[in-house]
Amino acid sequence: MELINKKGVRMDGRKPDQMRDVRIEAGVLHRADGSAYLEWGGNKVLAAVYGPREAIPRHSQDATKAVVKCRYNMAAFSVDDRKRPGPDRRSQEISKVISEAFENVILTEEFPRAQIDVNIEILEAEAGTRCAGLTAAAVALADAGIPMTGLISACAAGKAGGHVILDLGKAEDNYGEADLPVAINHQTGEVVLLQMDGDLSQKEFDQALEYAIRGCKEVHELQKAALMKRYASHNGGGEA
Ligand code: UDP
Repeated sequence: MELINKKGVRMDGRKPDQMRDVRIEAGVLHRADGSAYLEWGGNKVLAAVYGPREAIPRHSQDATKAVVKCRYNMAAFSVDDRKRPGPDRRSQEISKVISEAFENVILTEEFPRAQIDVNIEILEAEAGTRCAGLTAAAVALADAGIPMTGLISACAAGKAGGHVILDLGKAEDNYGEADLPVAINHQTGEVVLLQMDGDLSQKEFDQALEYAIRGCKEVHELQKAALMKRYASHNGGGEA
């Protein structure tokens, strides 16, 4: 399978450093304290935030700060072969790394004994769902008014068909050489998530990291626009 042709064009017509289209809407669920819906290429993601509220059971409370509980879940119908419902090793890993990313940016000390629930549902999956999920959850957290040191966003870069590329599609993720999901805090510039699957030389890694950070910045602009639109409709007194 030729993932990228001699002219540097990828299977879906993108250039090596081009992202898929991303669309974000904040405040789509009325019962949640904060929510967001995001489409990223063929990925469709819903994020809902509840809290801060008293942590239950009580033994899970931390007297000094809030506990952040992220739950990443792929719907059974989100992939071609039906996915067995419920948590598996992969979703537990993704929930853990996303929780850790948010623990680094949420001002948890302001809410001792509380918990903040971040639910991420993947309705349709087409590679890059952890980045799409984290990006949607960050908008939902901001929509819930949870204080954070900054807004975070994620984007992956990697290598396929011998080229360093931005934002891997499904075939590139399955048959490519490497995947490098990255999340950054845009206020502090800190990297809050970085994982790597596959092999990259130091030079390729540097290039992929630069691409991923550029992707994060592009997504950050869309997050801000979605939140601005949400606040504008709030101020106007209308429903989002
Ligand atoms: N995938 C799938 N079935 C599964 C898990 C994953 O078809 O049970 C697909 C899905 O499209 C996902 C992609 O494989 O987006 C890549 O998964 P990976 O573990 O690399 O995480 P992601 O790229 O989604 O963050």
